[in-house]
Amino acid sequence: MKNTTELTQIYLDANATTPVLPEAAAAALSAMENLFGNPSSSHITGLKAKNLMEQTRLRAQTLLGSGNGKLIFTSGATEGIQTSILSALIAAKSGMSAAKNYSVLYGATEHKAVPESLKHWLNVLDIKAKVTAIPVDRFGLLDHDFIALHAPNALMICTMAVNNETGVYQDLSALEKTIRRANSDIFWMVDCVQALGKTELDLKSTTIDYAPFSGHKLYAPKGIGFVYIRDSAPFTPFIAGGGQESGLRSGTENLPGMAALNVIFEMLLNKESSPFSNTVQLTHYRQQIATTLTECFGDVVFNNSFEHSVATTINFAVPGFSSKEIMDLFDAANIRVSSGSACSSKVTRSFVLDAMGLPAWQSEAAIRMSFGPAITQAEVDSACARIKTASQALTQSCMILDDSSDISDRSDLDGLVQLRSGASCTWVFVDSFSKQALIVDPLPELQQRLETLLECQKLTLVAAIDTHGHADHISGREALATRFLAEQESDALGWPMTEAHIKHLGQQLQAISIGSKRLLRLPTPGHTSDSISLLLCSELSASNHIVEQTQYAFCGDTILMGSLGRTNFDSSSSQALFNSLKLIRDSISNNTLICASHDYNNEFTTSLNAEVSRNELLKAVINNQISVDVFQQHKAHLDTHLNDEVGTEIMCGAIIGNCDRSNIKEYDAISLAVAMKQDENVCIIDIREPHEYALNHSTQSSQNVPLTRLVQFIQEHQNQKHKQWVLVCRSGSRSMIAAQAMHRLGFEQVSHLKGGYALSS
Ligand code: PLP
Repeated sequence: MKNTTELTQIYLDANATTPVLPEAAAAALSAMENLFGNPSSSHITGLKAKNLMEQTRLRAQTLLGSGNGKLIFTSGATEGIQTSILSALIAAKSGMSAAKNYSVLYGATEHKAVPESLKHWLNVLDIKAKVTAIPVDRFGLLDHDFIALHAPNALMICTMAVNNETGVYQDLSALEKTIRRANSDIFWMVDCVQALGKTELDLKSTTIDYAPFSGHKLYAPKGIGFVYIRDSAPFTPFIAGGGQESGLRSGTENLPGMAALNVIFEMLLNKESSPFSNTVQLTHYRQQIATTLTECFGDVVFNNSFEHSVATTINFAVPGFSSKEIMDLFDAANIRVSSGSACSSKVTRSFVLDAMGLPAWQSEAAIRMSFGPAITQAEVDSACARIKTASQALTQSCMILDDSSDISDRSDLDGLVQLRSGASCTWVFVDSFSKQALIVDPLPELQQRLETLLECQKLTLVAAIDTHGHADHISGREALATRFLAEQESDALGWPMTEAHIKHLGQQLQAISIGSKRLLRLPTPGHTSDSISLLLCSELSASNHIVEQTQYAFCGDTILMGSLGRTNFDSSSSQALFNSLKLIRDSISNNTLICASHDYNNEFTTSLNAEVSRNELLKAVINNQISVDVFQQHKAHLDTHLNDEVGTEIMCGAIIGNCDRSNIKEYDAISLAVAMKQDENVCIIDIREPHEYALNHSTQSSQNVPLTRLVQFIQEHQNQKHKQWVLVCRSGSRSMIAAQAMHRLGFEQVSHLKGGYALSS
């Protein structure tokens, strides 16, 4: 696999911001060095600066067809949005009548700057008006009927020309007809940030009142923008002071920014001699990238309709992959893209795609690829080649199946893998020698990934077992069993019918084999009446007799990290749970790794030792310090105070123990190099997934332990808890949570690289 560390980045995130074109950067530098005068100064240096400013304004006016409207330079679009909303609302307030109910309207897919500014200024100006989102259809097009209905009582309407996540554009002239027919006086702002350089605008021929723009979305630097205000539209300066911009926007002007914009405007006005491609060419580029994505990720789904979008934005989702996973993969391949939206909570979702009514998975898995009109054929070719390299890395690590690719360097999986969907976990255990596999608590969302893994690694599924009948989600077990275990007879949870029993610590337990390991079935009712725990044991010879050593205990929702499974379902019994906890205590060691069905706080795994130190109730049970009656009272109290939901999931246990968020020692690249020089025992663990590692790892010696294999690593290194482990990843966030998990389980000297490879390469 080619190591892409040394490759230059492919930047496909133009809708977030663009690089400054060399010509624009040169103009900005020249302005700083030569035209550094203050445009308000009356000496020659000032006059020259003023001349540059006015030339830039003139070009903008020509480009946008702004006619008699004002064109004011700002710090960016967010300031332009404030200027527009403040001006419109102050004017609207004076005409309000006490008897009417008012609203302000904005498109449901608008950039957050718009609804947030509306709320802010309504509040500051003490205007009583409802902030109402205009719905969009599945293409992202505004609902005109809704506008017609609500515009008559609206103070202002805010729409956007081109959407930043999807590139979807609105038909502005049809929109204008709808708006003006409903309310000829309503103030209308159109956010034109993503339209500049991508669609033609002639503002004077429209009744748009306000149109904010931003320089950094089209190859000018950050910190410069402009706003158009129709000559008849009300205006209140947003910034008062020295009277610059004819008193419309005070503050000494950003001349270098304007100099850069001036060059960009010239390019847009003289397209033939500019580096910008025309729409036909850009459409070819989009098709080339989309075709590559389809070739590489066969079932990719495009979230934006190309027919309704500008050619420079592609929004897609790959079934079975979260946007974070694709982002990490592409980042390792040195392709910069963005996820559908910012991560505001545990689950990343795109409110834009949600508003378009797309299925939840598409919104959660959304990836935006965007480029600017200066992209070249060579760059598109490299992007496509790099996408292929990235998808091959996924094939190598058995994340996608591709019969045509070379599998010679595909490594055999061995041991425990933890897969997740949200906060729920599926556990896969593989015995590489016998090529047998076991799956515990299969989640339907992971169905495809599990099937790919089994097929790609050529594994035989021995059993797919649920630890209990899940109340919060349906199980993926039946689908797996139908496909891979058609001949097998099993009970309702998938435990194979077997006569085999093993004597384990004084108890006769049903057992099945996976390679040289034994899986024992321990009935542990409580959370539900059918709850079981599965103990994965290896056989050890000890002075003439065989003993079982439990490596992993899959306890379902009986013992969760920092909590105990809830016991307020119909089939729950806290009394049974009390007995089951004691049974588990007697069946595993204090350091056996407990693998739960949920991981609400990114803690991966736990042990009785780790739990007892933070879960007083469990400690009391384990140490026989509490009667069953008192336990039941405590448990009932906890269950009534259960925080019922985490995102879209219901909680399966009340959190009663503190999460360990202790301070982990952090290195930066320099201090890590020093530490490694001073102590050759410092061990670097790269915890990115194997495909990321294969695409991009430094020559510095590091071992790859992906997060999905962390639990196995912890198990195998139980007797190396004093060693100096330094965890590293892309940005420092995965390494931080993994280090905290290891620290909680007694790894004393675990640390991580702050900021990850992103800051040290
Ligand atoms: N509106 C849209 C559609 C945008 O994409 C952005 C930037 O992401 C903004 C407004 C805010 O622009 P600025 O960064 O110039 O304040």
